[in-house]
Amino acid sequence: MHVPNIPPLIYFAIPFFVITVIIEGLIIAKHSPKSYNIKDSLTSISTGLIGNVFIGLASKAIVLFLFTYVWEHFRIATIPFAWWSWLLIFFLDDFAYYWFHRISHKSRIFWASHVVHHSSQEYNLSTALRQTWTGGFYSWIFWIWLGFIGFHPLMILTQMSISLIYQYWIHTELINKMPKWFEFIFNTPSHHRVHHGSNPLYLDRNHAGILIIWDRIFGTFQPELAEEKVIYGLTTNIKTYNLLRIAFQEWGTLFTDAFKAKTSFVNKLKYLIKPPGWKHDGSGILSEDMLEEWKKKHD
Ligand SMILES: [Zn+2]
Ligand SMILES: [Zn+2]
Repeated sequence: MHVPNIPPLIYFAIPFFVITVIIEGLIIAKHSPKSYNIKDSLTSISTGLIGNVFIGLASKAIVLFLFTYVWEHFRIATIPFAWWSWLLIFFLDDFAYYWFHRISHKSRIFWASHVVHHSSQEYNLSTALRQTWTGGFYSWIFWIWLGFIGFHPLMILTQMSISLIYQYWIHTELINKMPKWFEFIFNTPSHHRVHHGSNPLYLDRNHAGILIIWDRIFGTFQPELAEEKVIYGLTTNIKTYNLLRIAFQEWGTLFTDAFKAKTSFVNKLKYLIKPPGWKHDGSGILSEDMLEEWKKKHD
């Protein structure tokens, strides 16, 4: 099988990220000098650099090994590098991403790493770079099946990078809405602003990577409403620029909650699996409870 020489795309994208973050920052600062939080952006950039370049190197090596192992020993077919297989993996990767991302919001062991991406109260291109340090070590479980059905590891990893790069430009307030047909099919700045909202109406909506159609199909789509301005960040914000706290705080509270709870071992395990906010005694407040409360007030 012919394996093409595909470079690690994400490293080539870094200069483009840096230049566009600066240009966006200058445009925002020109309109109102106080409205751009440079410290927050530097925090996001540092998080991304450490998470994707240094730690990412280790996690990617593990993932490459696992995908290769599965592909070499367990694949049920051999899918070549061809136009149709790229088209196929575009949809399959995006489908995998949707479920990975949806579960990252609904199960605390995944939320503990994904929360990093939502920890900024700002929303600009630099926010896109605020990436987890820990997720790369276990989020591969949502993609490993692509190796089983016969996609080459390089093809899977390349498509994952393309998806990550696509999701960069949607982290901006400078673009209001794209043309209607585009908003219908693709993930856009408007759709993703909703995803970063802490407003009850916007919680756990729009998990798409490239195609917003998955949210439309599986019932998690929420359009951005003019009357409901997005409040970015978490329902309880961590308010820190400390990289270690941003990367690990939720892991700390997760294990504290599980160990300290005076309850059965099974219930302790449930703290790992259940959604953020869940408590074994039923006193926890989940995102759907917040929405319910919000709806009562708005009737
Ligand atoms: Zn998310
Ligand atoms: Zn985002």
